[in-house]
Amino acid sequence: NDVRENLTYEKFGGAIRELAQTIADDGYEPDIVVSIARGGVFVAGGLAYALDCKNIHLVNVEFYTGVGTTLEMPVMLAPVPNAIDFSGKKVLITDDVADTGKTLKLVHDFCLDHVAEVRSAVIYEKSHSLVKCEYVWKRTDEWINFPWSVEPPVVRREGQVLDA
Ligand code: 5GP
Repeated sequence: NDVRENLTYEKFGGAIRELAQTIADDGYEPDIVVSIARGGVFVAGGLAYALDCKNIHLVNVEFYTGVGTTLEMPVMLAPVPNAIDFSGKKVLITDDVADTGKTLKLVHDFCLDHVAEVRSAVIYEKSHSLVKCEYVWKRTDEWINFPWSVEPPVVRREGQVLDA
């Protein structure tokens, strides 16, 4: 399957503003944005600024090992945030995409017992996701190319000596 949904950094900027506007129009004012690293970091930063929320927490979750290939279950990597920090707070969980929804469910359930309220915002949600996010910019069932992960990591070039 060669069809791809292609998000560029340019489109991302508009998507974040639109997603934030939807959240603001809904009257949800999060105290904390919880970012699922690494893809959710971009979304968290954009939404936190647009929603004027100064508090971002980060959760590292590993699940995907390649295009469409995953570990059996998503796992939270250390350091796991202290749930006490969330107690009584209105939390907004952010990620780039809810695909199977397993990653978001893991973080959502982790927060649930401790917080006043928890909602989720993603740029994309796929129709088979077991989590239905309150805020979604676009629905698709294609594999998505994100601008931050579509290119391989940079490698060191020979002969590039930088003066101090
Ligand atoms: P889930 O647990 O919902 O299946 O997947 C969540 C994570 O898997 C996302 O945060 C993202 O990192 C990765 N992922 C899932 N679907 C896609 C996709 O279509 N494209 C890319 N680039 N990553 C994806």
